[in-house]
Amino acid sequence: MTSQKSIAIGGISTECSTYSHLFQTEADFNKIQGSTLVELVDFPFENHKIQAQPLFYCKSLPGGAVDAEFYERTKDQFLQQLKAACPLDGVLLLMHGAMYVPDIEDPEGDWIEAVRHIVGNHCVIAVCFDLHGNVTDKIIQNIDIFSAYRTAPHIDVKATYHRAAKHLAAALTGESRPEVVWSPIPVLISGEMSSTFVEPCKSIYAHLENYDQRNGILDTNLMVGYVWADTKAATAAAVVTCTDRQAGKETCAEIADMYWKKRNELKFDMRAGDLENVLDMLPDKFSIIADSGDNPTAGGVGDRADVLEAVIKKGITKALFAGIAAPGIVEELQSRKVYTFKIGNRLGGGGPCLTLNPEKFYFKNQCAVVVFKGITIVLTEQRRPFHYHSDFTDLGIDLNNFRLLVVKSGYLSPELQSLSAPSFLALTDGAVSQRFDSLDNKHRQKPMYPFQNPTEFVADVRHK
Ligand SMILES: [Zn+2]
Repeated sequence: MTSQKSIAIGGISTECSTYSHLFQTEADFNKIQGSTLVELVDFPFENHKIQAQPLFYCKSLPGGAVDAEFYERTKDQFLQQLKAACPLDGVLLLMHGAMYVPDIEDPEGDWIEAVRHIVGNHCVIAVCFDLHGNVTDKIIQNIDIFSAYRTAPHIDVKATYHRAAKHLAAALTGESRPEVVWSPIPVLISGEMSSTFVEPCKSIYAHLENYDQRNGILDTNLMVGYVWADTKAATAAAVVTCTDRQAGKETCAEIADMYWKKRNELKFDMRAGDLENVLDMLPDKFSIIADSGDNPTAGGVGDRADVLEAVIKKGITKALFAGIAAPGIVEELQSRKVYTFKIGNRLGGGGPCLTLNPEKFYFKNQCAVVVFKGITIVLTEQRRPFHYHSDFTDLGIDLNNFRLLVVKSGYLSPELQSLSAPSFLALTDGAVSQRFDSLDNKHRQKPMYPFQNPTEFVADVRHK
């Protein structure tokens, strides 16, 4: 009969392009706490005689660097709440792994290490990561359980929380204490080149479930890493939670080797090309362009007007742009002082600045929907993606009325994919450019495929 155990839940999650000039501060983060946080994790801890205490979980849309003062303040708040919750038998941390804070080399490692200092070595720390996160020795040295998403686009967020929570509950209720081993892999590409819905990643990720079944292995992971971090920590990695270190190390080396050997097969999951090429490829029927270099869900700024400029120049009509970030636009148009407005680079994301005089416009949900030369443009007060049918219908927009939809996105969301329209990845400029040869590469480890072309790799499996 085990006595009641106590755990805390919380964390911080964001993805930061080091190529964006925008800083993330308090207003960019959504703070989830209390019963909402417990419901988010949705694991029946009480069935295991575990009391779960929610702290808070800060989550933002990917963007630029996190403001250092905000980071320190938030970490301090978290640690204070953690102290108040002690003594603790376990902690479940929800993280992403691609946070960037200027002058802090490894923010997730910094956060997790601070948690470890407070809870002590007896406490079991489980972390959940996005597979587009970067792993470091400092992270691994301070945790006992690691579970990351196995799908991209991510449809297994809940399932990942469940895996980590299950291992944590097992560790606290009598089974042996796990540990985590990892190996960096010198490969760093985008999520668009490593979708788990197409090969080679489809098979690789499916295989992880087999590895989980091995004796002494609890949870196997392949981290693609976050390519738009020009940092030392940026890398792909194999990460294994195990109760048998030797089995863990062997499995980790196998996963690392499997990904390394497939590196030349990693490619975009849709037709891709420079903007001009993509516009030349468009069919007469409805199609979708992903303006990938300015994709806010990967850390792009979302305010660029390069594609709009090119579409206007080409005289393409019946096009819908959803959306372009243009803070202040609603008030500007509502004041009706001016009937022309400037769009593009309003947040410093770069690209052309266009002056437009719309034929008509209306406002809804913090957006101005304007029509100019047969092109409908959704101008948004906030940086935001358009991924769901409801994002369009909420604005009174019927996609059937258009020949072309331009979204700021990388791979398309499952709902947009389900439209089964021909889709194209435009390799546009921006803070998350998919043309890696155009990216500054000052701090990443070398050699790193495809920035360089290493030819040999032997997994260097590390542990605590
Ligand atoms: Zn991700």
